[in-house]
This record gives sequence, C-alpha cells and structure tokens, in this order.
Amino acid sequence: MTKADTLDKIGTLHIVATPIGNLEDISERALKTLADVDLIAAEDTRHTGKLLSHFNIKAKTFALHDHNEKQKAQQILDWLNDGKDIALVSDAGTPLISDPGYAVVNLCREAGAKVTPVPGACAAIAAVSCSGLPTDKFQFIGFTPAKSQARQQFFKEAFESGITSIMYESTHRIMASLDDLVSALGEQQQVVFAKELTKTYETFFSGEVSELIAFLTDEPERQRGELVLILPGKGKETAAITPEAQKLISLLEAEMPLKKACGVAAEYFGLKKNALYKAIIAQREE
Ligand code: SAM
Repeated sequence: MTKADTLDKIGTLHIVATPIGNLEDISERALKTLADVDLIAAEDTRHTGKLLSHFNIKAKTFALHDHNEKQKAQQILDWLNDGKDIALVSDAGTPLISDPGYAVVNLCREAGAKVTPVPGACAAIAAVSCSGLPTDKFQFIGFTPAKSQARQQFFKEAFESGITSIMYESTHRIMASLDDLVSALGEQQQVVFAKELTKTYETFFSGEVSELIAFLTDEPERQRGELVLILPGKGKETAAITPEAQKLISLLEAEMPLKKACGVAAEYFGLKKNALYKAIIAQREE
C-alpha cells in the first residue's frame, strides 16, 4: 500500500457550525456534511437529534461534552485512523467557541489528522457585526467570571485593552454583572447588549450601563434569553458620534462650551448626551 493510499483511508473531522436560533441559518455544506459522515459527535445527542430530524438526516450520534471529551478524543482519533468521517457539532453555533471540542481538535491536529471547518453562525460574531462598535480589532473573551470581584477585574481589563471586547453572559447573572460593570467602570460606561440573536425576540440595546440596567429592570422579561455583552475599548467609545453630530458640535462649539454643544447635538439627533460627550473627549485625546 502506498503512502497516498494510506492517507486516503484516513477519515476527516468536520467542525460543523449549526444555527444559534434561526434554523434557516444552517448552510448547505453543513447539511451535506452531517448527512454524509459516519458519525456525529454532539454536545447533547437529544438536542442535535431534533436538528437532524428537522432536516430529515439520519445519522449516528454520540455524546461529546465537557465531562467526557478528554476520554473520547483518543477514540475519535482511532475512528479517523480507521477511515471514518466524523462531524463535531455543539448545541448551537460554532463548536469550540465557549463549547466543547478543544481536546479533540488538539489531539487530532497533533496526530496529523485532517480537521476542517464547516463555518456558520456564531453569536459573538453576529453580535459584534451589528454592534456599531469598531470591528477593525476585537477580542472574544468568553463568559464573564462567576464571582463579583473577578468580574470587575475582567471588565477593567477588557476596557483597558483598548479594543472592542465581546463576552457571553448568562441570563441569571446579567443584573449582577451589570452592577459589577458599574463598580468597575462607572455608570456611564458604554455597553452593547445583544439578545436572542436570529430569534423572534432579537434585541439590541446600546447606551450607558445605567440606561441598560433601567431598560432591563423596567421589564424583567428583557433579562431572559441568550445574551452577548460588548464593551468598547478605552478611547474607542466613538460609536455614538455620527458625522452629522460631529459637524453640528463643531459649529456650536464656536458659540458655547463643548459639553453644552454635545447636549444640543445629542438632543437634536436623539443620541445619549453623556456618551456623546465622552466619545468626543476620547476622540480628541487620541
Ligand atoms: N458556540 C456558540 C456560538 O458559536 O455562539 C456559543 C455557545 S455558549 C455555550 C452559549 C452562549 O452563547 C449563550 O449563553 C449566549 O451568551 C451566547 N448565545 C448563543 N446563542 C445566542 C443567541 N441566539 N443570541 C445571543 N447570544 C447567544
């Protein structure tokens, strides 16, 4: 048997993204891959079973989650070496992005196995793309820490990084997290909140953290669902400045103090007064 024959016999591990809410976001390639592979490693086989049956795909699945992935990794590599093609999916979105799969991909790569992505939805990317914050540089920093003090430090470091920071947050922790955000960076800190992306109750809110707290407290229902938080980096809180607002502020500044000019422009364009003022100051300091 030649080396090429041997390589042909090695299977491929496909890292397949699935929708984060709207089932129409699944790609044709994802459907084809899931239908064609010998086995599907799923974070939750029942959850993935529903997705597969929606698309009329009959496939063998097995569980691969945080608690067994280290043990399963070698088994997956052995199957690949036996020529089996395997897909790895998580409950939603792109596997390995705050989801299981790292131990498997790492082992397979180190062993020289074929690992290929079938890209698709990812809540972090969907959220930042619509956030209105700078996207030339950004970082994804996973879930906020569980403890208050660690969370405050986490927010400070995110802000100090100077670039847009995307983080995941759980519904039961959102209010405590926002209180920590106030403690860490002040109640006027700009923040973007993206909820239930691609679903019926998709919501974007951008403004000061105190305004977001009021928005979520007014109707506690708004705290429910899947959430992404995004912070602008220090000195990059420029999203609130539209070119029109900038022009008006320049004109008004000849007649009044900057803060007042920002207030008038904010009122005229329906922007947040403090955020606009802060953004102008930050822009000028740069
Ligand atoms: N791998 C997934 C991805 O690619 O987005 C993320 C998995 S992580 C375990 C789940 C977290 O992602 C949720 O707690 C929430 O923070 C975020 N998330 C997932 N789906 C979302 C959606 N439709 N809207 C907003 N956030 C979402």
